[in-house]
Amino acid sequence: MPGLTPGGDLRVLVLGGTTEGRELAAACAGHPELHTVTSLAGRTGRPVPIAGRVRIGGFGGVDGLVDFLRDERIGALVDATHTFAATMTEHAVAAARRTGVPLLMLRRPGWRERPGDRWTRVPSLTAAATALRGRHSRVFLTTGRQGIGVFTGLDRCWFLARSVEPPLPPMPARMTVILDRGPFTVAGERDLMTGHRIDVLVTKDSGGADAKLSAARDLGVPVIMVDRPSPPPGVPAAATVDQAMDWLRAV
Ligand code: NAP
Repeated sequence: MPGLTPGGDLRVLVLGGTTEGRELAAACAGHPELHTVTSLAGRTGRPVPIAGRVRIGGFGGVDGLVDFLRDERIGALVDATHTFAATMTEHAVAAARRTGVPLLMLRRPGWRERPGDRWTRVPSLTAAATALRGRHSRVFLTTGRQGIGVFTGLDRCWFLARSVEPPLPPMPARMTVILDRGPFTVAGERDLMTGHRIDVLVTKDSGGADAKLSAARDLGVPVIMVDRPSPPPGVPAAATVDQAMDWLRAV
């Protein structure tokens, strides 16, 4: 690959936990000169298999990540964590700055509102909870297991929460949990929302597969969309695995 020293290998740390991280590791596996270590936080007990080496668990803050980058002689760092994993991203930026290891953000694009959508954009999960306050709603909550505690105290709402792993307390008293992992179909999402008489969907602007948004549009169900945190300034970004591979070629 161009960009590599002759005969040299590139060790790539992929901060993962996303489909893109997994796909990047798979793409790198086709290049013998690229050696990936994918790092997972260890939040899920049944991670999907990943090509290349995998390590699990936090690094122990910025200092731990700096040590890892140095000890493992990492030549490129790709932050492919979920858009809402803001702390890990902050640590990646700080560690890259301290070590001089080139950093790329790999982020799938956010969702765009389409004709027929009824979205309200809010800046945070707390703001989403505020938007629900005082409403008698049957809420489909797809914001993940973390942070569900902000929805406690909304006594007039009933929640259908879907996550890969069970949410941890505190959580709303009137809540049914479905443990499931996508991909989901539009028809399946429509049936789920109709069956539970959902009248509002709450989601983070994660981007990617959007069956629930299509179903909400079809059913006229309003959506409370939690905006993404701002990307770190001055860090190169890729929206696709192909773009990330181009960046790795140029490192
Ligand atoms: P976070 O708040 O940004 O990170 C909290 C701490 O978890 C970090 O300081 C780090 O611990 C550890 N950590 C996070 N991602 C890691 C990784 N890939 N490898 C090693 N350690 C990691 O992150 P989060 O929102 O809890 O998300 C955790 C993981 O779940 C991420 O990998 C993310 O891609 C995935 N995920 C998150 C969401 C979401 O909505 N937030 C959704 C889907 C998947 P140390 O400080 O000890 O290094």
